[in-house]
Amino acid sequence: MNTTAALRDLPSIERLLSDPTLADVIQRCGRQRCKQALQAMQQRWRNTRQPPTWAIQPSAYAEPLKRALGSTGYRRVFNLSGTLIHTNLGRAPLSDTVLEQVLPLLRGPTNLEFDLSRGQRGQRDRSVADRFCALTGAEACTLVNNCAAALVLVLNTFALNKDVPVSRGELIEIGGSFRLPDIMRQAGAVLQEVGTTNRTHRLDYESAITERTGLLLKVHPSNYEVSGFRAEAPLKDLAELAQRARVPLCEDLGSGALVDLSAFGLPPEPKPQDSLRQGVDLVLFSGDKLLGGPQAGIILGKTSLIEALNRNPLKRALRLDKVALALLDETLKLYETPENLAELLPIFRCFQVTDEELAARALRLETALSNLPDHVRCERVETTCQVGSGAQPSARLQSLALRLTTTSGMNAAKLLDALRRLETPVIGRIQQDAVWLDLRTAEPLDDLAAVLSGLAGELERITAP
Ligand SMILES: *Cc1c(COP(=O)(O)O)cnc(C)c1O
Repeated sequence: MNTTAALRDLPSIERLLSDPTLADVIQRCGRQRCKQALQAMQQRWRNTRQPPTWAIQPSAYAEPLKRALGSTGYRRVFNLSGTLIHTNLGRAPLSDTVLEQVLPLLRGPTNLEFDLSRGQRGQRDRSVADRFCALTGAEACTLVNNCAAALVLVLNTFALNKDVPVSRGELIEIGGSFRLPDIMRQAGAVLQEVGTTNRTHRLDYESAITERTGLLLKVHPSNYEVSGFRAEAPLKDLAELAQRARVPLCEDLGSGALVDLSAFGLPPEPKPQDSLRQGVDLVLFSGDKLLGGPQAGIILGKTSLIEALNRNPLKRALRLDKVALALLDETLKLYETPENLAELLPIFRCFQVTDEELAARALRLETALSNLPDHVRCERVETTCQVGSGAQPSARLQSLALRLTTTSGMNAAKLLDALRRLETPVIGRIQQDAVWLDLRTAEPLDDLAAVLSGLAGELERITAP
């Protein structure tokens, strides 16, 4: 029997590109890339003279084309991984209120760098900076692309070719190529390790300070914890040492939270306003971690130091764009009425999901998954989830998950795969040979239920011969 089609029966590329079954992938990945992938596919068959029989049917190309193009295109996903602020999944989701306010600002020109009252050039960071100062009591504020950029700018401004003592317990690596010693070197500062991994004292800094010292740096160990026999020098002591040496004391907080998280049952996260109160001259943190805004690096501190940062030509290279500034401005407006925060900021809303709500979500999604084949079992299990993104490394929130196990030869990784191929990809995690879908972030529930009801079909496609 002939299992290959004749080359002359292959549909033309133009015919394929106009087939309605391919419209979706063309819209997502772009016409040109689809065209090239289809040409490559057909060329391979021409070379081997063996096109598969399905290749004469335009509608059969959609799936192979999607596979060939991989995961091109940014897509919305459901993050059910149990890590609430997931760096790979875009960190903090933005608030609807914020997005609605910002949209009209982005459609046309704005007064980004234009002072409307005087009719002349203005300062682009002004509005956001004023809000941060009002919320935290900081003297001044400047803004850059992310917290890593904030650190580079600070080191390059105050410690170029100078020593910067850092505790050996704080030489952090956070994911995605951020390693403190590398960043310091690249910014032109000379790292001077002090103390030990578990204990660093005031005296360690004191004996390291010389006339070559440019800055004292304290780093919040945001994604790990040293416990047991440990000690660190109090900020107040470091502030005193820095003042005596006439160098700034800078603290990299990483996440930083403007409000007290204990209301959500979480351990307290250091707040930038507390650091400033204890005498830190400059404090740095991210916009898209616990703040719940866009990617940004926020630097708060003394006016003279912030002015020096703004004069560094690197500030121009690292400055924040109008989209992030507008998003940050609207996010901070929400903080001006803290009682609404839990309602309006998605990250805080998910801290507050009740047990009843989790149970209701489980029920709804179990119904959506009730058509799964016999070899896949779906059960409700108690679990815990984590904040993620270098915040609260040991804090766990009680949560509920749906656990999917399979008794056929299919393993959990295959199940996870099928979930990622859904119309809106669903990201779960593997634990004990099963797929866990954490329900604390299962929103919007209607959409998720509709998407998950397609899982049975996807599993069928995967296991089809
Ligand atoms: C997350 C983090 C950073 C990097 O922040 P980005 O905004 O991703 O650049 C720097 N320092 C600490 C301590 C962090 O936790």
